[in-house]
Amino acid sequence: MAESIAPQMEELCRGEVHAVRVSHSAFHAMSGHAHAVESEEIVGVLLGEHVGLPGGGVVCIVHAVRPMKRADRRKDRVEVSPEDLSSCVVHAEELQAKTGHATQIVGWYHSHPHITIHPSHVDLNTQSQFEATNKNAVGLIVSCFDARGSVELGAFQTQNVSSEPITNLGALSERDMTVLESKDHAAFEWNMNAAFKVSNFPSHVSHEGKGNDGHLGRKWHPVFLFDGNPCFEVYCKRALIDVPLLLLEEEQELFEKAMAACEKEEALRRLHHQNVFIKSLCLLSSSVPIDMRDMMKDTIERVKSKVESGMAELAMTSSQ
Ligand SMILES: [Zn+2]
Repeated sequence: MAESIAPQMEELCRGEVHAVRVSHSAFHAMSGHAHAVESEEIVGVLLGEHVGLPGGGVVCIVHAVRPMKRADRRKDRVEVSPEDLSSCVVHAEELQAKTGHATQIVGWYHSHPHITIHPSHVDLNTQSQFEATNKNAVGLIVSCFDARGSVELGAFQTQNVSSEPITNLGALSERDMTVLESKDHAAFEWNMNAAFKVSNFPSHVSHEGKGNDGHLGRKWHPVFLFDGNPCFEVYCKRALIDVPLLLLEEEQELFEKAMAACEKEEALRRLHHQNVFIKSLCLLSSSVPIDMRDMMKDTIERVKSKVESGMAELAMTSSQ
């Protein structure tokens, strides 16, 4: 199957991305992932395909997503390790074999809790790395936890600020629009009932967003939601189920790293790390569905007993 798709993809990759279509299931998985963490950004990979439009451009279709473990969790950035990224290539190949649909990594997504969807300099640099592998890769940003409780979704690519600004929304022909809007529920307008907004800025290049090298600008693409192929639904649900376990794994790794850096006699420091870990687990368990909490119960119990023995150790040290 991969062989029959390859020449087609090569042909299509000659055009530029003019629009992005996201299946409802993929959007729900992304949004669920974004809402699992309020204090930091989360990250994942987009799985789908690129298809030609009648007007000559390319549409990036997102069938499914894969939440990723964060290699960097600083407040304003997210990073994925190269090892995890290459495991995603294998996952895309498996999905292609199981569904019979062309599936590859078509970009990445991340969340902007409490801030707008505008990409930062760091985001533009990350996006340029994806584009170096596949020039039609796109970046999606989910803005969440805003005061109105709404969710906003935007799609962007980088653009050399020295080149002529392009207007992709205007570049779409009437026939393109018919294809893109077929069976779609989402529109360009704010939908109060769903408290969801697809941000379709007129595509433009912004100098504010330029990178450190002074050459990177951002280019917005119109986003369309669609029903999606049912064969990908189960993988989107699986992705959402994996989120709490992924977050738990991250917390455990951080905790173990912090504990390994402590000297044996630093009882107070170890106790501090244990308390921080418990607090993170409590926060995590309050943001995931109830049946997921059972999976975390063992870990919480294990850490609790560690804290108790740490307290006893500390009491003994201070009485000496
Ligand atoms: Zn960002």
